[in-house]
Amino acid sequence: MRRPSRHNAVYIGLLAGSFLAALVAGWTSLAVEIDNAAYDVMYRLYRPPHWQTQSILLAIDEGTLKESGGVSALRRTLAEGLERVASARPRAVAIDMILSDPGDPADNARLEKALAAVPNVVLSCDLLPGGEAWDDPLPRFRQRAAAVGHVHANPDVVSRAVPLEKATARDRRWALALEAYRAARKAEVLESPRDLLVGDRLIPAARSDARAMLVRYVPPGMAPIPHVSVKELKQQPALAARFTGKTVFAGVTAQTAARDRMMTPYQRSAVGLEIHASAFETIAQGMFLRPAPEWLALSVCLLLAAGAGLTFFFLAGWPAYLVAGCILGAAHLAPYWAFTRNVVLPYSPTVSTAWLCLVVAGGYQYLAVRRRLGRSEAERVRYQQAMHFVTHEMRTPLTAIQGSSELMGRYNLPEDKRKQIAALINSESKRLARMIEIFLSVERLGAGQMELKQERFTAPELVASCVERMRTLADRKQIRVVVEALPEASLTGDRELMEYAVYNLLTNAVKYSPAQTTVTVSGKRESDRVCLSVKDEGIGMDQAEVKKIFQKFYRTRRAEQSGEAGTGIGLSIVEQIVSEHGGTVEVASSPGRGSCFTVALPAQAPVAAAGQN
Ligand code: ADP
Repeated sequence: MRRPSRHNAVYIGLLAGSFLAALVAGWTSLAVEIDNAAYDVMYRLYRPPHWQTQSILLAIDEGTLKESGGVSALRRTLAEGLERVASARPRAVAIDMILSDPGDPADNARLEKALAAVPNVVLSCDLLPGGEAWDDPLPRFRQRAAAVGHVHANPDVVSRAVPLEKATARDRRWALALEAYRAARKAEVLESPRDLLVGDRLIPAARSDARAMLVRYVPPGMAPIPHVSVKELKQQPALAARFTGKTVFAGVTAQTAARDRMMTPYQRSAVGLEIHASAFETIAQGMFLRPAPEWLALSVCLLLAAGAGLTFFFLAGWPAYLVAGCILGAAHLAPYWAFTRNVVLPYSPTVSTAWLCLVVAGGYQYLAVRRRLGRSEAERVRYQQAMHFVTHEMRTPLTAIQGSSELMGRYNLPEDKRKQIAALINSESKRLARMIEIFLSVERLGAGQMELKQERFTAPELVASCVERMRTLADRKQIRVVVEALPEASLTGDRELMEYAVYNLLTNAVKYSPAQTTVTVSGKRESDRVCLSVKDEGIGMDQAEVKKIFQKFYRTRRAEQSGEAGTGIGLSIVEQIVSEHGGTVEVASSPGRGSCFTVALPAQAPVAAAGQN
């Protein structure tokens, strides 16, 4: 399918514009919300393989709080829990409680001792309001800890990711979950711009994204992270065995006391302690969800845009719509397919690129097809009109030639008659040739394929040759042709075409006038215009008819009844020729009182509309 290269350039430009618009739209906050919602839906749809959890929660729940003296006795309660867990030799203990206030000396002493009894303790810190300093645990606790990790979550309503790194101007902290993993493995954190390496575990968390790590929560249907409350532990000390070899996350889970309650993508609410433990599980199991690298997301969008463009370039009708449907389906499914391979492909740029590019490509090709249809229809109409023109204008000279040649062939005519007929055949065939030339010129002008000739001639010359040609026609009806004084100003344009126009007005004047009337040709100069009028005393027209006579194929009823009407094309060609010369045609007429056609042409001015369409 070959198309003009300008159209192809516009098509490619439109597609590139749509592609960019879709990418820009992908940056808006609305797009981010859509991406998050899509992430949650995919999260719920996809069930990751089950895994053996490596963490356990030591929870201070409602029951524990009620029994052990409420929030004022939290340190004592925590100490009680840790004392019982210590004998089970857990792997590491992360405490989700900011132990920064002075507290009760006795409770502090007990907690300090309990901390000393468990291995690999990780304490929590939090950014103070203003974000310029850390709210750290008391030094007495800190010295018992292997590390201090921050407990910040991302500020979204749904907790999808945790920032593994958080820093004030001078002091950078790793997240509690990461510190717990590091403490349990007794390893160092090695950094690269894209990842963190702890032991042999490579964690995808880019520095450019605040080292955000998407959290893999335990899916519904799988045993949750085990959970033992301090109260239960006190009642059944044997439960301590469940902590052996596990990384313990200790903290408050009671609804009334836990301030950090959030939603997970599974639409379950979770307290901070569970979120930290889940982040730990994500690292420990190595079940990371990686955001798709930018080049990949961009390539997918580019592929979709190219697919949309090629589809509507090479296909049409239902095959195009079928392929477009497949592309749309692929765009909607690609993020999920990537998700099942642990890659998070942004949903809105992918989908909006596909939609926008397909709609634009489809719309453009639809309009292009319509334009082509319109053009071929116009060509068909023009061809039809050309046929009418041929039959209408060329029949008369042909009939004359045919009749004359038959006369010459059939009868033995005297020499002078024979010469007269030969001259007639000659002049009619010349007229025919001229008509063909005019016909082709008007056709080419109409199609914008030709520039007007730029000849100089005067109104008297033009009128004289036309009057000469129509003299016999007028004589036949005993119509007097009066040519008044005409302005000598020179005109510029195609003389042949202009002659055709004036000749047509003159023959109409004769055709639509009764015998023994007068046709007057007059002219005048009006500033930069030359006006030529052809006035008759014929059948005339009313105002409604005058408005329509330049339409192709229109003929007045009066003209039809007179038996003189032709095909109604002549005046439309006259108007086209005059307007191509930068002029106008005006008509004054009334029924039964004759008509006056006035052609106004620019005098000595270059032809304004030459060669234009
Ligand atoms: P044609 O004369 O072949 O029918 P034209 O396009 O030249 O086609 O004219 C269109 C119609 O305009 C004519 O059929 C006739 O009804 C009307 N008309 C044109 N010239 C005159 C005139 N001088 N007087 C009255 N009617 C005219």
